[in-house]
Amino acid sequence: MMVRLLVALAACAAPLAAQDAPTVLRAARVLDGRGAVLTDVDIVVQGGRITRLGPRGQVPPGARLVDLGDRTLLPGLIDAHAHPAWYFNRQGRLHTTRDGDTPVQSMLAETANAYATLMAGFTTIQSVGDAADVDLRDWIATQGLPGPRILTSLDPIVEPQATPDSLRSLVRARQAHGADLIKIFASASIRDGGGLTMTDAQLKALCGEARALGLRTVVHAQSDESVRAATLAGCTQVEHGIYVQQSSLDTMAAHGTYFDPQCGLVFHNYLDNRAHYAGIGNYNDAGFAAMERAIPLAVADMRMALAARGLRVLYGTDAVAGAEGRNAEDLVCRVHDAGEAPMHAIVAATSLNAEALGMGNRIGAIALGLEADIIATDGDPSSDITAVRRVSFVMKGGRIVKYEGGR
Ligand SMILES: [Zn+2]
Repeated sequence: MMVRLLVALAACAAPLAAQDAPTVLRAARVLDGRGAVLTDVDIVVQGGRITRLGPRGQVPPGARLVDLGDRTLLPGLIDAHAHPAWYFNRQGRLHTTRDGDTPVQSMLAETANAYATLMAGFTTIQSVGDAADVDLRDWIATQGLPGPRILTSLDPIVEPQATPDSLRSLVRARQAHGADLIKIFASASIRDGGGLTMTDAQLKALCGEARALGLRTVVHAQSDESVRAATLAGCTQVEHGIYVQQSSLDTMAAHGTYFDPQCGLVFHNYLDNRAHYAGIGNYNDAGFAAMERAIPLAVADMRMALAARGLRVLYGTDAVAGAEGRNAEDLVCRVHDAGEAPMHAIVAATSLNAEALGMGNRIGAIALGLEADIIATDGDPSSDITAVRRVSFVMKGGRIVKYEGGR
């Protein structure tokens, strides 16, 4: 009786997890996410995973053939720095805790952001972060809500006055509440100068405690001093680094610290949406002027980072309100403005990001046994990076969630 009940429950859950019959994906070319281009191949997906990747052949009986013609298949994109909880409220202003929106309204806005991000081809994001992420993450993972896989830090740890011991307990509390990683502010915002806000002892306490618990640490650091301090404290990943110097890039490379600078989307988005932000917190004239000055700095920074020997440069957009669903724009910026080879940028946003998120054995590549997170673009992004703006097919975990022109 119990066995029969379990079988029935499993059957009910199946449509949410993956189609049972195999799906064969076919397109003009496949970028495997590790730098290779494959042609004349079929990708067979079953049970949510890639079960065959090889020469085109007979479609197995009962399988569904999805022939994407002259499109390009590549792994689902990964954004290592996203903010799905940020949105513009119905008054057209940046949502804050005091704007009168209810938690339900905020969550609906967040699910809309998650949906837009998935439709843009991002099948995994790292949110850094918000307390409500845990429910968004879990409903997407288990309740059929369409959105990217989410790893979250929950609320960032900002407290510059806290003792090392109390910082360690904050790390433990985040883990107890379900955080996948720890987000730390080691510097002020770029709108407030970006200077160091934590001591070496504080950073060592935070990153050391997280490491002991098996959690990665992602550190906001704008000034060169803060980048260096986070690196020497043994933190896993450094964000932004708008004022970073060559010697700190080399130090990060030597320590195996991942670097996640942004190219342009975040600054252009703030400036394009100035009316939605202006007058809230540090979104004042001085703050906007700092962001305007950051645009050429960010591109120069990206060039310098990409040229630093042995430095692993991730793909993280810092997509805030107004930018969700446009997460691919920094790929275009990295290629067109910072001179990166298109394939190198694609590898950053797929297999390198997967490795940095500790998920390299599950996602980030089109390879046998990996989870079937696969997208298609109109055109070939390895020759024209703007093709990443034209994502017309999205499969996540073996389930097709977008198929323009499909039957
Ligand atoms: Zn951010």
